[in-house]
Amino acid sequence: MIRNESGLWTFESWNGRHAVPHAFAPADAWGGFDAHRHEDRARLRDAIDPSSRLVESHQTHSPHVADVTATTTSAELAEERLRGVDALVTRTRGVLLHAIAADCPLVFFADRDAGVVGLAHSGWRGTVRGVIAATVSRLVEVLGASRERLRAGIAPAAGGCCYEVGPEVVAQFEALPIRVGETLRPSARAGHARLDLERVIVALLEREGIAAERVEAARACTICGGARFHSHRRAQGRAGRMSGVIACASS
Ligand SMILES: [Zn+2]
Repeated sequence: MIRNESGLWTFESWNGRHAVPHAFAPADAWGGFDAHRHEDRARLRDAIDPSSRLVESHQTHSPHVADVTATTTSAELAEERLRGVDALVTRTRGVLLHAIAADCPLVFFADRDAGVVGLAHSGWRGTVRGVIAATVSRLVEVLGASRERLRAGIAPAAGGCCYEVGPEVVAQFEALPIRVGETLRPSARAGHARLDLERVIVALLEREGIAAERVEAARACTICGGARFHSHRRAQGRAGRMSGVIACASS
């Protein structure tokens, strides 16, 4: 990913004919960013497209996906508060999809030729529950994206260097239909492991037909990455939130 003068990050490989408006806002964007603050979200929208309408959901680590149309509102999506919506997809111009995270990977999707984009919040629970496959299915089967063209990007998240998980989480990842390989590495505590969620997501995307060369992963760890990032784990639950935003290209 590359960083602009405001401190927003974008995927380097999403340029030229693959370009769609998108950004990841880390904790140090504009000298201090927290998605909990309405004015920071508004500033982010203005930086991408002031005429766009920001749409977000209530995230609960679910695998549920919502199609955002010209009339979908955040208030409407928040009505699904209990079930949750952790991925948004759209083919409607003028809509800016928004998701928040502090350690959980945000996964961006775009098929520029089909004019569709998506944004998934894929922490360990959502990943195990299938949010990646659910998002790709919706993009392809409902919005007309192609598995051969779709590109994906994974924003900074808890890395395999730091993200220790317990035996109950390890068991759920061992049961996923991917090669465990280096996604789980030994940790000092018995029965625990260090989980490389980014690598798991790359493998799951590949299973969905999105080849690794069409996936750009930030490879930046929010836990040991210092003040650039909000980290739920590092701040022991008192962290701010970072944002991902993406919209369809205007032409
Ligand atoms: Zn780390």
